[in-house]
Amino acid sequence: MHEQVRDYQVTQEPYYRAVGDEVDLYEAAYAVRMPMMLKGPTGCGKTRFVEYMAWKLGKPLITVACNEDMTASDLVGRYLLDANGTRWQDGPLTLAARHGAICYLDEVVEARQDTVVVIHPLTDNRRVLPLEKKGELVEAHEDFQLVISYNPGYQSLMKDLKQSTKQRFGALDFAYPEADVEKEIVSHETGVSADVAGKLVGVAERARNLKGHGLDEGISTRMLVHAGSLIARDVAPLAACRMALVRPLTDDPDMRDALDAAVTTFF
Ligand code: ADP
Repeated sequence: MHEQVRDYQVTQEPYYRAVGDEVDLYEAAYAVRMPMMLKGPTGCGKTRFVEYMAWKLGKPLITVACNEDMTASDLVGRYLLDANGTRWQDGPLTLAARHGAICYLDEVVEARQDTVVVIHPLTDNRRVLPLEKKGELVEAHEDFQLVISYNPGYQSLMKDLKQSTKQRFGALDFAYPEADVEKEIVSHETGVSADVAGKLVGVAERARNLKGHGLDEGISTRMLVHAGSLIARDVAPLAACRMALVRPLTDDPDMRDALDAAVTTFF
């Protein structure tokens, strides 16, 4: 493996609890180098899944958290000035394409559309990346694959992927895992007992029912892991749930009361 991407190798097996046939499907998608889109709410396991797949496939993983200030140069690369003059530096996308890594663009809708279009030539059968400023056409390494995550809840008329972008990808749907599986995950990640994990999942289920009735997003698996980690450090469950589950989710006093009440029915 090229030394420039060796640091991105996932050396330890990440804990990932499969929830369906996503591992097999992803492997098949990788085998044909299909660009993949992981869809689902924040904190439901998309990033962990990619880390696990990169480990399983033995490929380096280069992750980019997308935001609206990101430019095409942030992905592709730019000339830098140093003591010896100017020097080209590959951006994360170029690095991945050149040396055969999996490139994961997290929350891709956050990026502006003129930024996102740079991925187009890499996601059709050309598999090339033109570096316009450098006058180079990079042919993607055979191991290169592009993966993006996408939270359908956030999409709006202003912020969505164009059809011409979407249709380049295969997609897998992710959701919060069903109760027993989520309990297992929370317990494994934090060390809390199955009983405590089950109660946390119970609180989350109540909160998820409030989505669309005053809450934009439900309590994610990530938040349950936060709460569980505090409880495992002997923080009182009520305080842990308030800090890790209720307070981050909403500022609305009535909604906080309703969520606090849900917490007290379990703890
Ligand atoms: P996303 O990328 O969807 O926002 P993450 O992958 O970061 O979410 O998941 C948040 C946390 O939830 C992870 O760090 C992990 O602790 C836990 N998690 C969620 N789903 C799973 C799963 N299927 N297996 C293992 N851990 C999971």
